[in-house]
Parts: sequence; structure tokens; C-alpha cells
Amino acid sequence: MAEKLAIDGGTPVLSRSDYGNWPIITDDDRKFVNEVLDSGIMAGGTAPQVSALEKEWAEFIGAKHCLTTCSGTAALHMALAAVGVGPGDEVITSAFTFLASASCALHQNAIPVFVDIDPKTYCMDVSKLEAAVTERTKVIIPVHIQGLPADMDPIMEIAGKHNLHVIEDACQAHGATYKGKMVGTIGEVGTFSLNNFKNLCGGEGGLFVTDNEDLLNKGVLIRCFGDEIDEVSRRRKYNASILGYMYRNQELPAALARGQLKHLDENNNIRIKNADYLREELSKIPGVIPPYCPPECKHVYFFYNVRFDPKAAGVDCEPKKFRIAVEKALYKEGMLVGQWQTMPVPAQDLFQSKLGYGSSSYPWAVNEDKGIKYNYDPAQFPAAQELCDTYTIVHGTHPPNGTELMEKIVTGFQKVFNNLDVALAHADDELYPGPDGALYGAG
Ligand SMILES: *Cc1c(COP(=O)(O)O)cnc(C)c1O
Repeated sequence: MAEKLAIDGGTPVLSRSDYGNWPIITDDDRKFVNEVLDSGIMAGGTAPQVSALEKEWAEFIGAKHCLTTCSGTAALHMALAAVGVGPGDEVITSAFTFLASASCALHQNAIPVFVDIDPKTYCMDVSKLEAAVTERTKVIIPVHIQGLPADMDPIMEIAGKHNLHVIEDACQAHGATYKGKMVGTIGEVGTFSLNNFKNLCGGEGGLFVTDNEDLLNKGVLIRCFGDEIDEVSRRRKYNASILGYMYRNQELPAALARGQLKHLDENNNIRIKNADYLREELSKIPGVIPPYCPPECKHVYFFYNVRFDPKAAGVDCEPKKFRIAVEKALYKEGMLVGQWQTMPVPAQDLFQSKLGYGSSSYPWAVNEDKGIKYNYDPAQFPAAQELCDTYTIVHGTHPPNGTELMEKIVTGFQKVFNNLDVALAHADDELYPGPDGALYGAG
């Protein structure tokens, strides 16, 4: 069964046409989108689709209030502004996440502080959280990474002890649960993204969720320029009482998200079924580490993350080089694989240079001028660094893809891992063009 690897001139196991597209558009989407077109109402803070989505999402996750926003990043920034974060305050988040979990703090003139990840779950390592708390800390932003809930109980406990706000970054985890509770309803504010690739898609957009009426009211103000609304006429007064932004969403994305929401559970269940199948099969291949899900959590697999361990595979090779060799060989077999984050967030140039606004070093300078130093040396985040060296994302685990594609993905893995010496010999080959001559695209 010495099948020739595609990277060595053999026939690829898969082609791009084996992959179904995300999102899946149904008549539910068409119905709501057509309602918008027929109504002629395209936008407005309390327009029909936006209001309906807010009601339906709050109901779905069991929260009292929801506001739609133009992005997940806007929802995060709005949450920080609503809880009263200001210049020089510190905001703690995870070292392995999307930039927005940290840049939302910079947008509020606050300073991101990072905590390394748990090497098993890839979420914030709660055993390292308390050491990151200072007298300046105001907020913890746990990230439910790739669809897996962060370990919220200890996070809420530490937050309570130090009187900190908790804002959940649930942008990758619509419908995930922690000990039976929907993520986004455990902290004071939950934030979600509706971007094209997320489990709940509106094209673009975001959701801000809270049980706290004060935070809701602040959110309404911040979302729309800080403009006060007249209590009687419900009209805008054009008198800003606080600093706000233009973070409203529109009717078309809200309508699409409503149509998608009708299928969220069903689609998440397919992601879980595909992930369970891959876990079962891939864990039989020495050196392949499928994602872990603690028993108290429901993982919704926004991304299906696989790690590689050369030692377990019986190969004497530097781990990062091994990952690159395997990733290339899998890609040449026609599989959509590739990295998402390539480094811990604090390793990015923005944090290394600390150039925030223009050529100034604000907001860091707010505290650095007082002698407090911020050190973003990536060596402080060894678990995040090791993950970045050794993981790849196996794309296509979302519906409409099912067992047929998962079987082919497993075959591709088996083929490459049966020929590791050949894969390693081609570690420096060019990646592009891919098997179809088409460029790699996420999702
Ligand atoms: C997508 C994402 C965001 C930001 O969402 P946008 O809608 O793209 O602004 C924030 N945090 C995480 C973890 C994300 O994956």
C-alpha cells in the first residue's frame, strides 16, 4: 500500500470540489432578506430585523438583553466602554486568540495583558490568571477558542475576588456550553461575531449580550455616537452625553443572521458529529493530536485544530519543521489545511513596537511614563508558542460536509503518515499552486 504522495507526483486524495461551502443559504434566509427588500427599511437602531434578531438571540442563549453591532470587535469595544474601562486600565486576555480580543482594549486606551494557554484546551490557563492581576486590572476577557468554552468557574471566582468585570469573547463559540450554560451568559457581557465564517453568519456583524440593564443602556448610547434619546418622542436629541461610536448593524445582515439562527443547532450538531468522527479515526494515527473537549463542555468546533508530535510519530525531527512538512503534504493531497494564528498575539509587531496612536506609544505610555513596564516577550507564553509551532486547522468540518468528506480527510492523513519519510524529504517544496491550481482560502 505504498501509495505515492501527491507532493511526490502521486494522485491527490481530494479535490476542491469535494468541499461544500459555508454558510449554507436556505429559504429561511431568502424569506427574511426579502422582507428587508420589500420593506425598503435598510437600517436603524430599532429597525424590524435588527430588533427581531436581538430578541431571538437573547432567547436562544437565555440572556435578558441583546444589541446587534456592526462587528464582534465593535461588541467587545462597546463592552469595555460600557463597564467603564479607561486610559491605563489593564485588560487580561488569552495569548492564543484573534487580535481583536486584545485590540479592543487599545481602542479604549487600556492596556492588554496576556495569559498563556492551557496546552490541552488552548483556552486561557486559569492557573496563571491570578499572577497577571494588578491594582490596575479592570477586566478579564476569556476567549472560547475555536468553539471550546474557557474554564469559566475559576475565572469568575478570581474576578469576584479582585472585583473585576468579565466580558466573554464568544465570537467563535455560538451555542457552546460550559456546565450546561450557554457561553456569553456567564460573564457580565457576552460578545459574538456574525462574520462570514463564524458558526452564526450574517455576512458581517456582532452581538452584545447582557443581563444588566445599566450595561444595556450604556451599550445603546455607545453604539450610536453617545447620542441621548428623548424619553417621550424616542427621537435622537443630537446631544452626545458620552463618547460613542457608530457601531450599529444593518437590516440585511440581521435578516441573514435570523435565517441562519434557525439552523444553528442543526449545523453545530453536524460540526460535532464530523469532529467526533475525526477524533475517533485520527487518534489512531500516532503523532496526530485531535482537539480535546472537557466533559463539562459542549465544543462547537468553529475550527478543527489538529496538532502534530514527531516523537509520537516515531520521527526524529524538530516539531515546527515536522508540522510544516506534514501540512504541505496534506495540502498537496487536496486537503484544505493551514494555520490561522501563526504566533501568540503578544508576539505581533504591534505589541513588540508598542506603537498605538500615530507614532506615539499610547496607550502604554499612560503607565510607562509612571515607571510601569509592559513586557510582551513571547518567551512568557511557551504553551501558546508551542501550539503555534505544531498545529494546523483542518477546514471543511462544517456542514454541508459530512462523513463522506471526513472519510477522505482521514484517508489523506493515513496516506501522509504512512509516508512520513517522503513528506519530510519534500518539506521545503513550494506550497502553491495547490492540487487544483487554486489558491488556498479559509473556511
Ligand atoms: C472573529 C473574532 C472576533 C472579531 O469579530 P469580527 O466580527 O470579525 O470583528 C473577535 N474575537 C475572536 C476570537 C474572533 O474569532
